Amino acid sequence: MNINIIGGGPAGMYFAILMKRAQPSHEITVYERNGPDDTFGWGVVFSGKTLANLRAADEESHAAITASFEAWDNVDVVHRNSKISIHGNSFSGISRLQLLKILHRRCEQLGVQLLFKTEINDLERSRTSCDLFVAADGVNSTARKQYADRFQPTLDVRPNRYIWFGTNKLFHGLTLTFRENNAGVFAAHSYKFNKTTSTFIIECDQQTWEAAGFAEMNEDDTRKYLEAVFAPDLEGQELLSNNSKWINFLLVKNEKWFFDQTLMLGDALHTAHFSIGSGTKLALEDAIALFECFQRSSSVTAALQEFEKTRKPVIAEYQAAAHDSMLWFENARQYMNLSPLELAYVLMTRSGRVSDSDLRRRDALFMEQYETARAK
Ligand SMILES: Cc1cc2nc3c(=O)[nH]c(=O)nc-3n(C[C@H](O)[C@H](O)[C@H](O)COP(=O)(O)OP(=O)(O)OC[C@H]3O[C@@H](n4cnc5c(N)ncnc54)[C@H](O)[C@@H]3O)c2cc1C
Repeated sequence: MNINIIGGGPAGMYFAILMKRAQPSHEITVYERNGPDDTFGWGVVFSGKTLANLRAADEESHAAITASFEAWDNVDVVHRNSKISIHGNSFSGISRLQLLKILHRRCEQLGVQLLFKTEINDLERSRTSCDLFVAADGVNSTARKQYADRFQPTLDVRPNRYIWFGTNKLFHGLTLTFRENNAGVFAAHSYKFNKTTSTFIIECDQQTWEAAGFAEMNEDDTRKYLEAVFAPDLEGQELLSNNSKWINFLLVKNEKWFFDQTLMLGDALHTAHFSIGSGTKLALEDAIALFECFQRSSSVTAALQEFEKTRKPVIAEYQAAAHDSMLWFENARQYMNLSPLELAYVLMTRSGRVSDSDLRRRDALFMEQYETARAK
């Protein structure tokens, strides 16, 4: 089979790896507009369950990925200068660049053709010259725009602003930090992803963003302002910019997932708010699910039908959990009157998917402290 894939992110490359590994006679080309060393962002997070899925799908890349991991089991909530830790949550962080390099190497080993610095603008020509066309071209997908009448996307631009930094201050857990100043409320999502660096994403509502005057600030002034807001947490370390800019989260859904021999995968197809840290996980698991559909089906059409039928409900459930979490952060200012312990509890249960008994199993001491405080 001749397969064209647009986008050398986690979704596109991982699908290429799984298909080529199972059937070396497939001719697979991945077109990527960036070079092999370009990237955006810093680190990404996986849960323990994602790792088990990666191991089952391809041991070689799983081994390379886990060798580069920083792992932890605590969520830390920082509020009013006090830190509450909740243990029993299995997470790992890896740099996005490192993950992409591992996938590049694995593609090359297996004989997938990776064409860097190759932007595909004439999608129709590429699409009609292969047996399977996969648009894994990210959140701002050209394919989704060009074939909007076929995919029928809904795009929801969310009101909060966020900005993605790195820092050399190491956060040894998934750390959610809340700081208030005269402009409003800022939340930081941070975690280490290698021995020297952490991701540090800052989020605030539109009211805070306007009151702080970010519209008039350049990149450097923005970074300095936010360093001052989170000075007690950064402990003298700088925020590191990687062309970091304020963005509004874009919630992507599509009514139809494929037409003819053409489908979308990963962020092009669906997004889930970063507060549940699962965009890369979903991209990789999409690739596994699609690959498995090809293993079970006798034709491209049957595989794509099967993929849409079986994967859509899984994604809908994730998007529902991520939606609740996103709404929580959009309304964070209304929780600032809570004590650190109460805030930690409300945060842990915000998506409605973690019950008191789940929390008790994960961290009995935390629940005991919370229940004692509540009873007073
Ligand atoms: C602030 C923030 C924090 C995040 N935190 C996490 C986290 O903690 N954990 C997590 O798992 N995920 C996280 N994510 C999400 C994660 O980055 C994405 O969900 C993931 O990268 C999606 O993979 P993908 O392969 O679908 O798309 P991408 O990684 O976006 O890859 C798409 C690729 O397509 C290429 N491309 C686009 N158009 C063309 C074209 N016309 N021709 C050629 N190439 C093209 C692009 O250059 C890009 O390399 C976060 C995202 C944000 C914004």
